[in-house]
Amino acid sequence: MVLAPTVSFEFFPPNNSKAEEQLWEVMKKLSPLGPAFFSVTYGAGGSTRSRTERLVERIHNFMPIAPAAHLTCVGASRIEIENLAHKFWNSGIKHIVALRGDPPKGELNDNPPKNGFVNAAELVSGLRKIADFEISVAGYPEMHPNSPNLAADIDNLKRKVDAGANRILTQYFFDNELFYRFRDAAVAASITIPIVPGILPVTNFARVVEFSARCGTSVPAFMAKQFKGLDDDPETRALIAASTAIEQCENLLANGVNEFHFYTLNRAALTYAICWHLGMRPIKKNGPNAHAA
Ligand code: FAD
Repeated sequence: MVLAPTVSFEFFPPNNSKAEEQLWEVMKKLSPLGPAFFSVTYGAGGSTRSRTERLVERIHNFMPIAPAAHLTCVGASRIEIENLAHKFWNSGIKHIVALRGDPPKGELNDNPPKNGFVNAAELVSGLRKIADFEISVAGYPEMHPNSPNLAADIDNLKRKVDAGANRILTQYFFDNELFYRFRDAAVAASITIPIVPGILPVTNFARVVEFSARCGTSVPAFMAKQFKGLDDDPETRALIAASTAIEQCENLLANGVNEFHFYTLNRAALTYAICWHLGMRPIKKNGPNAHAA
């Protein structure tokens, strides 16, 4: 019997009620796969704060899957963050994805917050003092664009782990060798918590190229070749996207990975197909279970 991997799914809070109902259907499709959690992003500078809170609470109250609330500290005071963390804990939301977030250009060094958490490591320490949260943090296989080198980025990651993080969710990447290099460097730095690769099934290649340039993810030439000529052919693009992500996950599985975090972009089909290929099957009673393939 081969155990299927553990998975988690990330969503962003929709900005209108119609889109929220569509997302709810997406979640209903994905939840029977028994993911470990559904995470909900937090817009830059807290811009989606109320939508994130509402969606996380809705998942907590009406989905059989535990939610994880992303929380960024940039631009917020300690007291604001602490109040929100207390609110999450008191309403039963016990998993936080603790992030710094992206400050407005130039502000990180020129204008650090006087009464806020400076970075994710400080945020993790602050959350640990509030309650026994499950805390995930971000990791960057190709290093964060603010980092001078991979070693400095691993030092920063280690500070987050030492502050009390339970799990690392990585930025998406397409070249697995970069993930293995990152994982080796983390292990060499005595990081022993799970490092869960972030998988982005590519729906719109042109947009992914643009976004990747901003977040420091490289897009290998083989992918450009795969998607070339498919700009006006979403059906074929989806098939290519599924096979590319499946190959990536297969290679990761063969190299000792058994947990995946999917950036769903609020769509079910690709993520569902990839999980199916990985041996996951819907179960009647939803919940965080691994399934026999
Ligand atoms: P940190 O780990 O605090 O730092 C990131 C980098 O900055 C490190 O390289 C570190 O060396 C450097 N650094 C830290 N402190 C300082 C300092 N004082 N001076 C100089 N350099 C410093 N963003 C959102 O807005 N909302 C989300 O919901 C969201 N979810 C995400 C989920 C995942 C899984 C990932 C990988 C990223 C997510 N992001 C999100 C993006 C994230 O907020 C940005 O990448 C942000 O720039 C860094 O956040 P962090 O928590 O990694 O920061």
